[in-house]
Amino acid sequence: MPLDQLDRPLRNLRVSVTDRCNLRCSYCMPEQDYVWLPREDILHFEEIEQLVDLFLDLGVDKVRLTGGEPLLRRNLPDLVSRLARRARLTDLALTTNGVLLAQQAALLHDAGLHRITVSLDTLQPDRFRQLARYDELPRVLEGIASAAPFFPGLKIDTVVIRGVNDDELVAMLEFGRHWEAEVRFIEYMDVGGATHWSMDRVLPAAEMLATIERHFGPITAIDEHSSAPASRYRLSNGVIFGIISSTTQPFCRTCDRSRLTADGMWYLCLYANEGLDLRQALRGGASIEEIRILLQSRWEARNDRGAERRLESGHRTSLIPLDTLRRDPHLEMHTRGG
Ligand code: SAM
Ligand code: SF4
Ligand code: SF4
Repeated sequence: MPLDQLDRPLRNLRVSVTDRCNLRCSYCMPEQDYVWLPREDILHFEEIEQLVDLFLDLGVDKVRLTGGEPLLRRNLPDLVSRLARRARLTDLALTTNGVLLAQQAALLHDAGLHRITVSLDTLQPDRFRQLARYDELPRVLEGIASAAPFFPGLKIDTVVIRGVNDDELVAMLEFGRHWEAEVRFIEYMDVGGATHWSMDRVLPAAEMLATIERHFGPITAIDEHSSAPASRYRLSNGVIFGIISSTTQPFCRTCDRSRLTADGMWYLCLYANEGLDLRQALRGGASIEEIRILLQSRWEARNDRGAERRLESGHRTSLIPLDTLRRDPHLEMHTRGG
């Protein structure tokens, strides 16, 4: 299994299946309009399968389907069933905003999907509309209710923004408990696309823990050796939750993830400015063996630690200016897949 310059293996691949989305979350897509990837560039399912097989050869055993909103991709359960046939893939997961989940949960389960994470930042309808620009909270709640029986251990990811939804940590934990879902609070990140980001809107993990402790009493950190981004904690009532502190305590040292965009660009870091065009390689007639060698050599040269570098840089403003994002939509979080 190839290791990168910091001795990190490649285990996780996030596969974005579309750059389109049916929400406009303020921390991800705050602008009025966007430049979309050309439709003819979007990888076909066969191409995604070919690339996933190459990544499995390199050591990947976890794939997460994402987007944009992955449930907008036509026939997604078909892609899931194709990927689920691969025995080497021990974890096949999906991250969704949940809007279309009620109608697809059973199909995705039957297709062989292992796990689902639903992104949900508020339980208040008015706030949801302000945060995501569409009045879709009822459908997201319906989606979670439909998916929970099919996907035990459902996860709920909540981006916490100071002054916006930082008063809902307790309510989210109670909500998660109701559905036996593990809530993970995510620090607001200065990724591409987050053009409204500023450090004073970030609620650091330490403050989240203090708020939760004030309400629920002592919190126990769960000691585990894992490359997963979330630090996990247990409340005295047994509820387990996570915090992803990418902004104030990044975890690049154990990062075994890379990202494939819907049009086949491969990024070795969420913050990377440049990727490798695998669509061009595939469609341009490179042999599978040539692409395998290319992937391996790129991974072995990897020394990315984007979030740590951002932290070290001290003075932080939003990462990428709007006009640069318009010129290269690959820099957007909704294209990278989060
Ligand atoms: N549309 C799907 C969803 O929202 O779950 C999948 C794609 S979305 C880009 C993946 C994840 O990225 C979501 O959980 C979202 O909350 C997270 N995300 C997007 N922008 C972020 C930011 N500025 N800081 C932290 N997380 C962010
Ligand atoms: Fe929100 Fe996900 Fe859409 Fe971004 S891609 S706007 S996080 S639903
Ligand atoms: Fe991995 Fe880059 Fe995120 Fe660090 S910033 S955890 S290296 S993807």
